[in-house]
Amino acid sequence: MKIFNTKQEIKSYLTSKKEDNKTIGYVPTMGALHEGHLSLIKKAIEKNDLVVVSIFVNPTQFDNQDDLIKYPKTIENDTKLLESVSCDVLFLPSVEEIYAENIASENFDFDGLEHQMEGKFRNGHFNGVGTIIKTLFEIITPNRAYFGQKDFQQLQIIKKMVKKNRIPVKIKGCPIFREENGLAMSSRNTRLSKEHRTEAAFIYKILKKVRYKFNSEEANKINEWVESQFKEHPYLKLEYFTIAEEKTLKTIESKEYHKKYRAFIAVFAGDIRLIDNIRLKH
Ligand code: AMP
Repeated sequence: MKIFNTKQEIKSYLTSKKEDNKTIGYVPTMGALHEGHLSLIKKAIEKNDLVVVSIFVNPTQFDNQDDLIKYPKTIENDTKLLESVSCDVLFLPSVEEIYAENIASENFDFDGLEHQMEGKFRNGHFNGVGTIIKTLFEIITPNRAYFGQKDFQQLQIIKKMVKKNRIPVKIKGCPIFREENGLAMSSRNTRLSKEHRTEAAFIYKILKKVRYKFNSEEANKINEWVESQFKEHPYLKLEYFTIAEEKTLKTIESKEYHKKYRAFIAVFAGDIRLIDNIRLKH
């Protein structure tokens, strides 16, 4: 696997590959890689001649400095994992390499997607995400880029950004990879205490019950039920739960046959914030 730290080096390497008509699949990550990341990388390997993974903990998408400082860094293990799945290229830039002296976000208009859910609780988060992904797309110019449905709002926002800015890349959404107990895999899971990690399985259990309830119950009733379940929980604190339409991410008003819905949740386990979601049928 080739490892590049500078824009210049990776650009010139990838330009030569493009001249040979190689297709590039790209998976942006913040490292502390797990099976969820690897599932995206494996998809990229299946469909492209060359696969690039980047590891970059993007400061502009964190509104919580403590979360940024404590974000897990396991670069040696990450490199081994990437080698083990035959990743071709790792891009590992420094903050200075990406932002030079100006660590700031561009302002984006994602047609309101950015004001829902995570947007309400993480100030400036999606401007940070948009800024870094746009920059990384410009450097790597991939044919296809892979994102997890774990961060479903992010996935929809990236699709919107690509469409609005006419960026020539296909965005591929990939299913959520879970631990054995159902907890959605996340780099932040390594920061959970043993107890919290076990208890956090509750989140997916609730989501599965929500999926069942959605067949026959009104969204308002389901919201109340979810809230009551967490009120009684000794380890987990609900930040938000909402059932929203996939396309606009707006909270459901009444079920419409042709629309697709998902339930979204954010929960604190101690001081670790966990998010998850599930596709609903109706
Ligand atoms: P991150 O390193 O957390 O920024 O994630 C990098 C990419 O991996 C994003 O597109 C995430 O949505 C995706 N991802 C993270 N966790 C999972 C998971 N459990 N299943 C599928 N994709 C995931």
